[in-house]
This record gives sequence, C-alpha cells and structure tokens, in this order.
Amino acid sequence: MSALEDFRAATRDWLDEYCPPGARAGGGGNRDDQRLWRERLIEKGWSAPAWPTEYGGGGLDNEQYMVLIQELRRVRAGVPFGGMGLSLIGPTLLELGTEDQKQRHIPPIVRGEVNWCQGYSEPGSGSDLASLSTRAVDNGDHFVINGQKIWTSGAQFADWMFALVRTDPDVPKHEGISFVLLTMDQPGVTVKPIRLISGSSPFCETFFDDAIAKKDDLVGELNKGWTIGKRLLQFERGSMASLVGGAAVREAGPTLEGRAKAYAGEREGRIADDALRARIVEHNINDRAYRLTQRRTVEEARDGRTPGPATSIFKMYGTELQQDKSSLLVEMRGTQGLGWEGDSFDASELGDTRTFLANRAASIYSGSNEIQRNIIAKRVLGLPD
Ligand SMILES: Cc1cc2nc3c(=O)[nH]c(=O)nc-3n(C[C@H](O)[C@H](O)[C@H](O)COP(=O)(O)OP(=O)(O)OC[C@H]3O[C@@H](n4cnc5c(N)ncnc54)[C@H](O)[C@@H]3O)c2cc1C
Repeated sequence: MSALEDFRAATRDWLDEYCPPGARAGGGGNRDDQRLWRERLIEKGWSAPAWPTEYGGGGLDNEQYMVLIQELRRVRAGVPFGGMGLSLIGPTLLELGTEDQKQRHIPPIVRGEVNWCQGYSEPGSGSDLASLSTRAVDNGDHFVINGQKIWTSGAQFADWMFALVRTDPDVPKHEGISFVLLTMDQPGVTVKPIRLISGSSPFCETFFDDAIAKKDDLVGELNKGWTIGKRLLQFERGSMASLVGGAAVREAGPTLEGRAKAYAGEREGRIADDALRARIVEHNINDRAYRLTQRRTVEEARDGRTPGPATSIFKMYGTELQQDKSSLLVEMRGTQGLGWEGDSFDASELGDTRTFLANRAASIYSGSNEIQRNIIAKRVLGLPD
C-alpha cells in the first residue's frame, strides 16, 4: 500500500470510530454528538486540517487533505465551524504574520474560540477600497484609530477585527495603508447592527473613537497593508469557491430536474416544458465545467497554496452560477416561487425564495463581480489598464 492509501485507510477507520451518527448529514442533528465531533476534530487538528501542527492544525499535505475531504463526504460529515478566522485571517497570518502573531492568534482560531470580523469597507470606499480614510496614528507601542467601517458582517458577535487603516495620508492612496488587528471589546469601538427589510441584521456599522490596535498586531510592514489586504481577499474568494477548506457536506436534496418535473410536469420521463429543460441542461453543463475546473485547480496547487488573482475567476463564475440556480428554482414555480410567508407555501418554497434574495449579495461582497472582471482582465489576462 502507498503512504496515501495507508492514510486513507487510517482516516476511514478513525472516522468510522469517532464520527458520531448525530454529526452526520441525515443523522438527526443530535447536539451532544455535534459537540463531541467538534471536540474530537479539534483534538486531532482537523478543524484546520492543512495548517501546521505547531499551531494546533492537522499538518496534512494537499493530497492527504483531498483524501480527508473525500472520506468526510463518504460518512456525510463536515468540519463543525468555519468563519473568518479559519477562512480569512488564519491563512493570511500563517503566510504573512510574525511568529508571535501566529502563536497568539492561530491556536484560538483552530479551537473555534474566537470570532473575527472584517473591517475593510467604509461609506464611500467599497469598490475603490484604497480610498479608505479610517485613520490610525502612531502612539508609541500602539495606534490610535478614528473613523468608520460599514457592512461589517458579524461585528456584533466578533471578538477581534482585522482592518485596513490609513497610516500615511500624504502618499499615493495604496501606499499609506496598514493592516492591523484590534479587539472589539474596548471603549473606542462601537457597533451598530444594520437592520434589513427582512428583519435580520447580518452586518453592522463600526465606529472607532480613539480605538487601540497594539503595534504587535500590525501585520506586515507599516504602510504596506494593501498587499496584505489583497492577499486576504484571495483567501476569501478561494474559500467561497471551495478551492480551500472544501470539506462542507452538501445535503443530497432534490435536483433541479426533480423540482422542475414536480412543477412543470413530465413528458416521456423528461421535463415537459422545453424551454425550462434547455435552461436546466445549460446550467448543469456550466456547473459541471465549473466543478471540474475547480477540482483541477485544487489538484494543481501541489503546495496547497491558494491561487492569486485567478481566485477572482472562481468568485465571479461561482456566484453567477449560484444566482442562476436560485433564479431557476424560483422561476419554475410560477406564483409558488413568490412566497414570503403563509400556509399557501411549503417550507422549501419559502426557503428557496429567501435563498434567491440572499444570493443577490454574493456578486457584491468580497468585491463586486464587476471588480472581479477588472482583476481578471488586468492580472490574469494581462490586458492594459
Ligand atoms: C452581504 C454583504 C456582506 C458584506 N460584508 C462585509 C464585511 O464583512 N466587511 C467589509 O469590509 N465589507 C463587507 N461588505 C461590503 C462589500 O465588500 C462592498 O459592498 C463591495 O465591495 C462593493 O462596495 P460598495 O457597496 O461600496 O459599492 P460601490 O463601490 O459603490 O459600487 C456600486 C456599483 O458600481 C460598480 N463599480 C464600482 N467601481 C467600478 C469599477 N471600477 N468598474 C466597474 N464597476 C464598478 C460596482 O460593481 C457596483 O455594481 C459586504 C457586502 C455585502 C453585500
């Protein structure tokens, strides 16, 4: 047996023994089982399987990581938590942080003990992020921060924020930005959730009035934060496209065809509506091509590194596919696809309407898809500015 086959066999044995039934999809969602699964994965380092063992990760190489994902899918289990610690700031610190920053910040992320939020966007600085004006002034062993962030997802639950701040206002905009980490539980930070029309508040305004970020928590060099901030966005786009951390397990819900047959009827075993059938076939072909490209990219990343500007391709195309699928699901239902509440709609109809609406945001956050097209044109295809 090759070393990789040995690893697969050992992984299979471990999962069969230690992954409790209630932590598997379709296993009833037993809370005790889920807590146990979380504890066992953390102990084994598999909440962050590919991170170095010295910080609590699993130390797996790319091939072993792929095997683990396949085996997790086999038992229909996933990793128990995600969030911006594991998918955004963790990989950034591992690649670009100091040894002290890794020692202090990575283990709590692996253990799921801290919540992080992202302080990038400001009123007036979204797509043109480098124009940001939140000011950080050097004050000995710390920076004093004043200004405002907006659309800060999960800020009301976060313990820490990673933020882009202006440390030199007198140089070209990209050259006066620094990347800092700061605690949310301090007098200088105020968080105001933004209430949406749906009633939920997924994101917030965050205000800084003499907030403090310690110098030890400056990531990279002073005024060189733009490079760090961009690399973090590549991790974000890579994780959205499952180029990393792809251990999520999908529920085997009804297929588009199954749903279409239920709503549009069936003729000789096929979806009765020709136009709808053609759209679904087109969607499925595009989806298949996307997944194969995704898999090839993961396999080609031999050193396990998240790709650079090419992550924009996956972010753009993946979110458009996601939106196309949710549009199809709503459209094929006719008026049943327009429900918001009430007994005339079943749970899946209401759920799909909400997913359709929520998915509109996917082509905006992490940089709008127009901005992704600009990045692809300039940084992937090398077209002129
Ligand atoms: C659900 C959600 C969660 C978010 N979470 C966070 C978060 O946690 N932290 C955070 O910092 N931010 C977050 N954001 C903010 C997000 O990053 C910004 O909304 C996004 O970058 C766009 O900025 P903007 O909203 O200011 O739009 P604008 O920049 O004002 O853009 C408006 C429109 O103009 C287009 N446009 C702008 N410039 C160009 C150009 N050069 N070429 C072509 N088209 C252009 C855009 O594509 C867009 O369609 C979140 C947003 C959403 C929707």
